[in-house]
Amino acid sequence: MSNKRDYYEILGVSKSASQEEIKKAYRKVAMQFHPDRNPGDKAAEEKFKEAAEAYEVLNDSNKKAQYDRFGHNAFSQGRGGGGFSGGGMNMDDIFSQFGDIFGDESFGSFFGNRGGKRGGQSGGTRGSNLRVKIKLNYEEIAKGASKTIKIKKYVKCTTCSGSGAKDKNSVQTCGTCNGSGQVRRVQNTFLGQMQTVTTCPTCSGDGTTITAKCNACKGEGRIYGEETVTIDIPAGVQEGMQLSIGGKGNIGERGGSFGDLIVQIEEEQHPQLQRDGLNVVFDLYISFPDAVFGTQLEVPTIDGKAKIKIPAGTQSGKIFRLKGKGFPQVNSYEKGDQLIHVNIWTPQHINDEEKTMLEKMKASDNFTPKPEKNEKSFFDKVREMFG
Ligand SMILES: [Zn+2]
Ligand SMILES: [Zn+2]
Repeated sequence: MSNKRDYYEILGVSKSASQEEIKKAYRKVAMQFHPDRNPGDKAAEEKFKEAAEAYEVLNDSNKKAQYDRFGHNAFSQGRGGGGFSGGGMNMDDIFSQFGDIFGDESFGSFFGNRGGKRGGQSGGTRGSNLRVKIKLNYEEIAKGASKTIKIKKYVKCTTCSGSGAKDKNSVQTCGTCNGSGQVRRVQNTFLGQMQTVTTCPTCSGDGTTITAKCNACKGEGRIYGEETVTIDIPAGVQEGMQLSIGGKGNIGERGGSFGDLIVQIEEEQHPQLQRDGLNVVFDLYISFPDAVFGTQLEVPTIDGKAKIKIPAGTQSGKIFRLKGKGFPQVNSYEKGDQLIHVNIWTPQHINDEEKTMLEKMKASDNFTPKPEKNEKSFFDKVREMFG
């Protein structure tokens, strides 16, 4: 009735193979057809399951003896007693079985962390991330800044050095798992009884329990305190940018590792300058006579003041560019420019004398607007500047 393959054939061993040889053979086959090595390969997965099933039987002297006598019929449904319920072997069961079978770090790490508590972390949980906002002015953004701030956060309890215990004698080996941090659970599967390994619920994998808690931290191993942190912010950051500083967040409970400190950048508004990406825009207002005669003046930049020359006959809307006076790109040599947008100030109030002069000017042909054909429109200028 069975078209199942022979268990010995599956593992590629002879009937006289020793337990050690069977184990070795299974290890080889399991490595070959492991799903992590054959992602999405259904055939490999079936072979992987098949091998796990074969090993489960041949590794158990009772089951092996039954199989040797009756073949697959030994485990077919209805024979009763063995708890073989049929159906496919659960992948998670197979994986949790690995720890038992190989107990070998290299095997576990080869396939990465699949359930359970691996990787040799010294107990405790990772602390949570902390978030702070730091406000920078334009000058600080342009040059980069080093900010020293005090942060309220969970720090290690110095009374118990993070263990959470009152003293050395109050740290005891966990009675549930005997210090291993793992508990084995026996499950009935169609292959018979199988062991699964899970993190110990009593000690959460630490392997120890505390009989008397540290008074200072109430057994948490950490207290709410303060730390002074210096944060180096690179030049060119922008509003909303986040910097992640590893290991400067909250410490975890009972000797756990630190979370990260996430720094969110805020820009302080400048009274005269406005940021536009890497560029800085300055709205310059000049008088009508200055526009006609030309002038020299100082404009604010993100790095002190700069002298500029306004040529005679400058039109309103003209944009001057101060090359390289903008913001730097983060981690790059690229720099923006400062754009100076010229506005000609129209007087709001004039006296009688001024009124008379203006009336005279108005009559002159020189005051009649004559935009030249090659005079660029405002939109052309914007496109040229930002395009
Ligand atoms: Zn403590
Ligand atoms: Zn335990």
